[in-house]
Amino acid sequence: MAGSLAAISFAKLQQIESIAIFDRDGAFGRGLAYSATAPWHRINVPAYKMGGVGAEDTEGFADWLAETGQANWCDYSGSFVPRWVYGDYIAAQLSEIVASGRAVLHTDAIAHVERNQSGYELTSSSGHRQTFDFVFLCLGNPSPSPFPGVETSPRSITDVWAPGALDPIGLTDHVLVIGTGATAVDVVIDLNRRGMRRPITMISRRGLLPLIDAPAQIDPTPLENWPEPTVRGIFAALVKDTHRKMAAGIPWQTSIDTFRLQIARLWTDATLAERERFSRHLRAIWLVHRHRLAPDVAQSLDRMQGEKNLNVLAGRIVSAAATSAGYDVAIHRRGGTAMQLTVNWILNCTGPEERYDRIENPLVKSMLASGIARRGNNGLGLDVDETCQIVNLAGDVQRGLYAIGHATRGAFWEVTAATNIRQQILNITNTLKTMVH
Ligand SMILES: Cc1cc2nc3c(=O)[nH]c(=O)nc-3n(C[C@H](O)[C@H](O)[C@H](O)COP(=O)(O)OP(=O)(O)OC[C@H]3O[C@@H](n4cnc5c(N)ncnc54)[C@H](O)[C@@H]3O)c2cc1C
Repeated sequence: MAGSLAAISFAKLQQIESIAIFDRDGAFGRGLAYSATAPWHRINVPAYKMGGVGAEDTEGFADWLAETGQANWCDYSGSFVPRWVYGDYIAAQLSEIVASGRAVLHTDAIAHVERNQSGYELTSSSGHRQTFDFVFLCLGNPSPSPFPGVETSPRSITDVWAPGALDPIGLTDHVLVIGTGATAVDVVIDLNRRGMRRPITMISRRGLLPLIDAPAQIDPTPLENWPEPTVRGIFAALVKDTHRKMAAGIPWQTSIDTFRLQIARLWTDATLAERERFSRHLRAIWLVHRHRLAPDVAQSLDRMQGEKNLNVLAGRIVSAAATSAGYDVAIHRRGGTAMQLTVNWILNCTGPEERYDRIENPLVKSMLASGIARRGNNGLGLDVDETCQIVNLAGDVQRGLYAIGHATRGAFWEVTAATNIRQQILNITNTLKTMVH
């Protein structure tokens, strides 16, 4: 998705002669999120918040939905369209730049990148070699690493997005989902729609599900001055401001959305220790407010819990011993009690691996090994400067070699939503205008 969006944006620059897009899965325009095929895998913001492509095109996706007669963005609930529709939107624009000859698509994995005298030479796993002036790494969300304490077994599914990953699960099996975020919710809804006849159990440290979205309102007095530049000080001020606005009838979602726009700057300014503090104490609470659910998805979860088809636990997995039929799981519940569960499947929905020295992507492994890249701040993603250019092991900015999206987590933290990716691409497009002659 990010690679295609970037190509569509860069194709408008006359200085750019040609663009090549490599994707190992051939998922051009869609990637992982927007290749979803189930109608209940929905965007988690109303369509207009997904944005368009160019700087002026702030509601491009919503406008396209209206033009193609698919949804009216004024219909708040109806504009949480299936994710594939956003994929259609990007793919439609991508096909225009391919048809015009501005971009060429290659279904191939890039395994290595190396600097040479004329730019960056890429080597693909099929042996293709080509040198480019600019390279943009838009590698998406790496699968989670195996969950600590869970023994290896075919009954543990780590990549829940792999095609057919959930197919072996029987309708009367007992499933334990680790994680209670957006991916976990998608998987639970998916299993429920398949007709699971056994309650599904979800577990996370705090047992918090994402909260429901609400129609946006203009924030009349956005909070911009922070009395104390610490995680504790910032969040205390945010909570106070949110309560004050709620008393005036402004939904809490409005304050959160205003605050989100400032996170990259606050994160960049924060000390490493403050960032660690945020990750340890506030991350889970922040995420459920930040990544929200379409109203009817939230209602489906409520209904499942009410009908005892979904059980959400707060606690920690102490161990999960593989058995012939699944797992015996020992759990330490939040609050102190111990608990045993016998399940047939464990699904790891803890979200993408953020420590890039642990991920399996051969390109990332080779870049970290050669020193053309290094780990990002707090061990997250890859190190980039404020313009998203990669910083090498020696601390030198690799001019023309960029990372976009999830890999830049360590530098900006708030980097995964379509709107954040779009903003990174707009900034880079502006830089390119001045760099390329
Ligand atoms: C399930 C899910 C739902 C989401 N829903 C929303 C939403 O509703 N709204 C929102 O704003 N955001 C959402 N997001 C967040 C965001 O929009 C996505 O994370 C976004 O798709 C990221 O784009 P990307 O290009 O970085 O990754 P992707 O779109 O996944 O693309 C990465 C591509 O790179 C390829 N690749 C990786 N390594 C190599 C290599 N070495 N060589 C060649 N190809 C390679 C992969 O095969 C993949 O196709 C969602 C994310 C997920 C995972």
